[in-house]
Amino acid sequence: MMRVRFAPSPTGYLHVGGARTALYNWLLARKLKGTFILRIEDTDELRSSDDSVRQIFDSLRWLGLDWDEGPLDGGEGASGRGGEKKRWASKGNFGPYFQMERQEIYRKYSQELLTKGALYECFCTEEELQAHRDQALLAKRAPRYSKLCRRLSEKEKESFRAQGRAPTLRFAVPEEGQTVFDDSIRDRVSFSNLELEDFIVVKSSGGPTYNFACVVDDHLMEITHVIRGEDHISNTPKQILIFQAIGWPAPQYAHLSILLGPDGSRLSKRHGATSILEFKDQGYLSQAVVNYLALLGWATQDSQDLFAHEELIAKFELERCQKNPAAFDYAKLQWMNGIYIRKLTKSQLLAAVRPFLGPVPANLEPILEEIVALEQEKYRTFAEARDLLGFFFNDNFDYRWEDIEGLMAKSLNLKTRADLDRVLAELAKRLGGLADFSVAGVEVSLRALAKDFGWKNTEVFHPLRFAVSGKLQGPSLFHMIALLGRDWTLGRVARLAGLKNSLAGAPIQE
Ligand code: GLU
Repeated sequence: MMRVRFAPSPTGYLHVGGARTALYNWLLARKLKGTFILRIEDTDELRSSDDSVRQIFDSLRWLGLDWDEGPLDGGEGASGRGGEKKRWASKGNFGPYFQMERQEIYRKYSQELLTKGALYECFCTEEELQAHRDQALLAKRAPRYSKLCRRLSEKEKESFRAQGRAPTLRFAVPEEGQTVFDDSIRDRVSFSNLELEDFIVVKSSGGPTYNFACVVDDHLMEITHVIRGEDHISNTPKQILIFQAIGWPAPQYAHLSILLGPDGSRLSKRHGATSILEFKDQGYLSQAVVNYLALLGWATQDSQDLFAHEELIAKFELERCQKNPAAFDYAKLQWMNGIYIRKLTKSQLLAAVRPFLGPVPANLEPILEEIVALEQEKYRTFAEARDLLGFFFNDNFDYRWEDIEGLMAKSLNLKTRADLDRVLAELAKRLGGLADFSVAGVEVSLRALAKDFGWKNTEVFHPLRFAVSGKLQGPSLFHMIALLGRDWTLGRVARLAGLKNSLAGAPIQE
């Protein structure tokens, strides 16, 4: 039975890379009816925060990545079995799922390894270690730990203790041979043990380091597959050495490709949004983000782009993950988001767009769903709605005269201010008297108006669109006119006419 885990350190937002790791683990667990575990790796006492834990929950919840075991979403501050205050309630039989609540467990195994001689006490101070690293760098050697404490006599250790030095525990890495593992994505990976330094397993504070806590938990939580980012590949031989020293089998490893920005450098903030909730705030649909993330380092044989949710679960395969870096393409994500937006029902669309609209006049509330749907074909993100639809909600937008002037320069019959006046006056008359103010009714009436005066259709449509929206492009003209109704339309036609007439000075073009 597959058991996989997502093991974030709560030291910041859940970013794109972490979300992809979570997604791939989740997809496999769902596909193979396994168990998806959330483990919070909060061993960095200084940088870990509950705020970040909450952000991780919010992000996973938004993406729809539910976990079978781990802290309970919303279980903060729950009381434990004996009524004592716990940090977080959890579900699953392998808890606690916060590493800081597992200190006793790590201590037990580090003692065992120390007794076995797999670990040794290191009394070097931070200053001594730094001086040593500086020397090594000057001599162009790798700044690996010198193993100074690896062969201390009991007497030397005693004297360090007497000085009050608190030791770290380091792993005594074998001084020959290789540490090898078979990665599901990269085949065989091997590290020469000589290249690995005697890494720290327990800090001088007594807390475990990431590599140690991770191994103990992966074993005790019966993790079968460790799927994580390539940045952890250099940790894997260290973890395998710990597994071997305790005498536990190591899980199957899979290291996912690194993520690059569109310019080929490592994906970072300066490329745009990188925290998952930022995509939410920028008006992306979680389904589109999930679909997009799935393709960041994985593809089907036929490079399929769009997946229904169940289809993604069914088709995802670890074996088809790529080891080459994956580049994050914001334009493709926007394109994909647009496709998902077009699949929404009108009421879903309104619910999604609403937070981005700002204040809406009360009289437009009843038709807001229809207004928002007018541009359903166009949105790439919901955040664009304000720009595309803002004129509906604001009567005092500016008319950019250059726009209509540009149009008039190319027109046959609409050349002067007097011409524009005339079109606006005729529009007001025609629409004012129109009995059938439906989409078809408006269209027929506007076309008839053009015909009656020998104008081109666009010589009627463009001034009207400009009058009601201040733009030359936008939603389907007849639909929006029919939807917003006579008063709204005539009010705006009058506003443009009045504004134009009040503008003293030179004619637009004469
Ligand atoms: N806590 C590690 C991180 O956030 C996870 C490492 C792992 O998956 O083993 O990068």
